[in-house]
Amino acid sequence: MKASQFFISTLKEAPADAEVVSHKLMTRAGLIKKLGAGIYNYMPMGLRVIRKVEAIVREEMNRAGAVELTMPVVQPAELWHETGRFDKMGPELLRIQDRHGRDFVVQPTSEEVITDIARQELKSYKQLPKNFYQIQTKFRDERRPRFGLMRGREFIMKDAYSFDRDQASAKASYQIMAQAYRRIFDRFGLTYRAVAADSGAIGGDLSEEFQVIAATGEDAIVYCPQSDYAANMEKAEALAPAGPRGAATQALTKTATPGKSTCADVAELLGVPLNTTVKSLVLATDETSEAGEIVKTQVWLLLLRGDHDMNEIKVGKVPGLAGFRFATVGEIEDHFGCKPGYLGPIGLKKPLKIVADREVALMADWICGANEVDFHITGVNWGRDLPEPDAVADLRNVVAGDRSPDGKGELAIERGIEVGHVFYLGTKYSKDMNATFLGDDGRPAFFEMGCYGIGVTRLPAAAIEQNHDERGIIWPDAIAPFTVVVCPVGMDRSEAVKATAEQLYADLLAAGVDVILDDRGERPGAMFADWELIGVPHRVTIGDKSLKDGVVEYQHRRDPAATKVAVADILAHVK
Ligand code: ATP
Ligand code: MG
Ligand code: MG
Ligand code: MG
Repeated sequence: MKASQFFISTLKEAPADAEVVSHKLMTRAGLIKKLGAGIYNYMPMGLRVIRKVEAIVREEMNRAGAVELTMPVVQPAELWHETGRFDKMGPELLRIQDRHGRDFVVQPTSEEVITDIARQELKSYKQLPKNFYQIQTKFRDERRPRFGLMRGREFIMKDAYSFDRDQASAKASYQIMAQAYRRIFDRFGLTYRAVAADSGAIGGDLSEEFQVIAATGEDAIVYCPQSDYAANMEKAEALAPAGPRGAATQALTKTATPGKSTCADVAELLGVPLNTTVKSLVLATDETSEAGEIVKTQVWLLLLRGDHDMNEIKVGKVPGLAGFRFATVGEIEDHFGCKPGYLGPIGLKKPLKIVADREVALMADWICGANEVDFHITGVNWGRDLPEPDAVADLRNVVAGDRSPDGKGELAIERGIEVGHVFYLGTKYSKDMNATFLGDDGRPAFFEMGCYGIGVTRLPAAAIEQNHDERGIIWPDAIAPFTVVVCPVGMDRSEAVKATAEQLYADLLAAGVDVILDDRGERPGAMFADWELIGVPHRVTIGDKSLKDGVVEYQHRRDPAATKVAVADILAHVK
């Protein structure tokens, strides 16, 4: 590719709404261009990255025996009624109507359609196992689209669905996918962790998230440096024994009003039977800055009533007062599928004092209850004295330094970006949709299913969060828009420079290197700044002076300075 023919559009300034570095750099480097909230054009430079991500995903999915197909973005609502998700999914599901007033959804994922295909096409156990996948546009009307491609509303996902004859075989299919995911994320060249995730109502351990480690990640993950234990916070908390744990909860127990610190006490306090109407108490924080500091905090004490089944709600399970955890307001809203106004009562008589970045001291005289007349409870006391800031290490049920569940060491906590998710589904969808095949005993049986997602457009953003400096992006070779840029200096003045650049460009192309020749005639400073911003990992600079010594300059994007290299040796540097 020649830069003069390609499309390069870099910006000095990041857009005002860009909070995280990947969003800033992707916009400045001209990879994406915003069209609406959470909706982006993938510009030519960005599309090259996305295509490389897709190619790796496709190769490894094919290698793992999955079969590619494509399902429609717009899907008839009938199928979504069969599983009940048309109504259950809440506002994240975009529902639309055609000219006849028929309901459709824009796919946020495709379990219904693939199960419909399976029940028609997979008639016998002899056709199993089968794994179908697509790399396709998704739409989720995220409550708070942000961070550019990281949490878009329209995005590209690779989603795969496995169909098996029984549980054992389904678990084998799951393992094949989990392995394929490791290969895929290894190839991207990113630091990531596969963490156990909550498999919801189905139970069992067959759900893992693939988390790219980054301080700006929205997810907290818990791991043990002394062993291979790793889980997302939600899973770790679900497993953690109820009761006072960690410095925070101990501090809390210490400072709580006597007699008001257990679940039973809370129920008594609220005047409701234990485990019936009080399903959960959730403390929510909101709005963290890029540096992870809370810029705005809202704390809600939720009294949930019987219409919410806590088992289906992934935010804080609250076995006792000591068992609460923080969730983001967004998380809470996502899971409950309703607006804060509905969630709230939830006023505070007094402003909260923020002790540290994530901790909020509990205070007296809360008003809580649902957002309905006569459902408020006033004068609730959670604790009279503010705990010492350093005693409130973390208001979670699981905190750093806790013993790892495998007993092999202490837990550590870090942040991650969920780029992939593998999930054993069991017969949830096949039963809802009456999707059966004939078993070897001649009887119909429900498919055992699994689903497996990768955030194709989230991945480049995660890669940037992990790989950048003050000058711009630093792509891993595998997903760089171009692997090598050839930068001739003074091409218009020097025949030797021009000829060498053209020749090197042709040689690299012939060797299968993804190279771009910057023949735009930019001044060296502007030219270098562009490529450093765009983040092409290998740069070869050709100038008259060094050419006289028979060399060109090679610089990796991470190198502090260029080194002189004979033209003939360049290939060895960039391959
Ligand atoms: P999150 O917890 O970030 O909302 P999710 O758990 O809802 O993600 P899944 O349903 O597991 O997402 O979808 C599979 C993958 O799709 C995720 O692991 C993630 O990489 C990607 N993904 C999900 N939502 C978005 C989004 N709004 N923008 C970009 N990628 C997304
Ligand atoms: Mg989500
Ligand atoms: Mg998730
Ligand atoms: Mg997920």
